[in-house]
Amino acid sequence: MDQVSLLDIHEVRKSFPKPDGGELLVLDGIELTLHEGEIVGLLGRSGSGKSTLLRLIAGLSSPASGSVTYLGQPVAGPPEGIAMVFQSFALFPWLTVLENVEIGLEALGLPRDEIHRRALSAIDMIGLDGFESAYPRELSGGMRQRVGFARALVVHPNIILMDEPFSALDILTAETLRTDFLDLWAEGQLPIKGVLIVTHNIEEAVLMCDRILVFGSNPGRILTEIAVDLPQPRSRLDPAFREVVERIYVAMTASDAARPPETRAERFPGTGIGTVLPRISSNLLSGLLEAVAAPPYDGEADLPVIAAALYMEIDDLFPVAETLQMLRFAELVGGDIRLSVEGKQFAHADLDARKQLFARHLLSYVALAAHIRRVLDERPDHRAPWSRFSDELEDHMSPDAAERTLRAVISWGRFGEVFAYDDQTQMFNLENP
Ligand code: ADP
Ligand code: MG
Repeated sequence: MDQVSLLDIHEVRKSFPKPDGGELLVLDGIELTLHEGEIVGLLGRSGSGKSTLLRLIAGLSSPASGSVTYLGQPVAGPPEGIAMVFQSFALFPWLTVLENVEIGLEALGLPRDEIHRRALSAIDMIGLDGFESAYPRELSGGMRQRVGFARALVVHPNIILMDEPFSALDILTAETLRTDFLDLWAEGQLPIKGVLIVTHNIEEAVLMCDRILVFGSNPGRILTEIAVDLPQPRSRLDPAFREVVERIYVAMTASDAARPPETRAERFPGTGIGTVLPRISSNLLSGLLEAVAAPPYDGEADLPVIAAALYMEIDDLFPVAETLQMLRFAELVGGDIRLSVEGKQFAHADLDARKQLFARHLLSYVALAAHIRRVLDERPDHRAPWSRFSDELEDHMSPDAAERTLRAVISWGRFGEVFAYDDQTQMFNLENP
């Protein structure tokens, strides 16, 4: 069968100017084709450039280099035939559901009765029948999002771009709307030819997509493509479904190993103090260590399994696991988290022993913590102001990142009793930390 391609993206790069000069490379070497009849997923953690890529496709911004082609024509400005569905919609509060949907068509200059007919049919299709004359304030979040879908569908676009369209909804509402959308798609009722959907939820991607492009960060790029050859409707409990989820976790955790060494050094210190540290509480770190140390895992667990057990999303789980890795309490390998000897010790120790162990690892593996401690040790009064370290960090990172990094190291320093910080006087000190 000849596959008609709707969209072709070739060698796309995109960067933004940094506030302190220089460029932040956000997308690099992006290759993507969307064929007729496909739902393709862009899956990755936040900051991996997925929304930026959608904006390029929607013609709302242009690449630094490379090409974006829609039906054989280069995209320059918003193309007719591509519609967007966002996480949530700004509906006009003073317009009814019907009028909010008709708005989508007004720009096309269609006859009045055609506009009316199409809007009613989109409303009907997406499950809003009977709500035509309701106002947005009378609708639940799920119903409002249906209006958003109707507004995109009413123009009969070739392609719909969806940016995390279900992530602002509660779980059940999201599931219902997702299923309704997939049913309509499978029945061929939707007036569209292809879908690109952005998500950071692995299961959502596997439920919906024919192909999934897994994104990595810094710079945003495609790590791998995974085809999902499961018939619709799909079940999360199907072993074949779980197997695809597992493969994706493996691809996403392999990304650090695939990074060039120089960017890896930035994230895993020991090499300097210029590392941006994530604000992860000692409670979360302890919680993950305890969960993995406990039976039936006994120190090694599949990330998907442990994520499910902790009711955590991938975007929340990874930074915690990565921080444990940075502190050498755990290792991330091929989709698994594996505790080190010290990680297991920590999980089974009492609070005092935990603090001591944590202090040792903090001083050994987080260069900034060791640096702060050294400065305080050397000063006769064992005190130093916030600005002493923030100025230094700002040579390596933005003021915002410097602030977050200092806050992170302060909370870890407090937990390990390595140093203290007085929020009132904004002084680091060694007084009974
Ligand atoms: P995702 O949708 O995968 O979460 P985004 O595409 O929103 O990622 O952002 C990718 C990166 O680009 C982030 O580091 C973000 O801060 C940066 N970024 C996005 N838009 C802009 C912009 N207009 N100016 C500067 N930086 C931006
Ligand atoms: Mg986004």
